[in-house]
Amino acid sequence: MKERPITIAKIRNGIVIDHIPAGEALAIFQVLGLNALARETGDIIAVGVNFDSASIGRKDIIKVENLSLTLEMLNVVALIAPHATVSRIEDGEVKEKNKVTIPQEVGDIVICPDRFCITNHEEVPGKFIVIDGEPVTLKCYYCETEFFGPLIRYKERRSL
Ligand SMILES: [Zn+2]
Repeated sequence: MKERPITIAKIRNGIVIDHIPAGEALAIFQVLGLNALARETGDIIAVGVNFDSASIGRKDIIKVENLSLTLEMLNVVALIAPHATVSRIEDGEVKEKNKVTIPQEVGDIVICPDRFCITNHEEVPGKFIVIDGEPVTLKCYYCETEFFGPLIRYKERRSL
């Protein structure tokens, strides 16, 4: 029997985030608040997990109809999936395809792991310097705590 390639829903207009390390799509999904977005707009969001990838072994894919990513959203994607590509789809065709770039600094999208940090006690928005990209390592601008891996916890968005 011939094996058929598995595909996920095609979108006509929107974005495709590809080359997400396997298992990380749901993190991106959550941090970008895509669930709330889908409920609000009724647009299709397709998440594919564990696809074969020549370059990274196993990968996840996210497709979101009628969405364009803000710079802040792109930064989130880059931190979680530094090798991801983002394609813009128009009328069913790929109009633009870019690799994400890890930002030098990120704003109030991450929670400082130091529970004594001012950002965890007062209305001070988080600010973090990216001090390494492989693995992504952040340094809190306020308390100078350096952290990476599972210590990087993202603020969950309810809407964009
Ligand atoms: Zn801090």
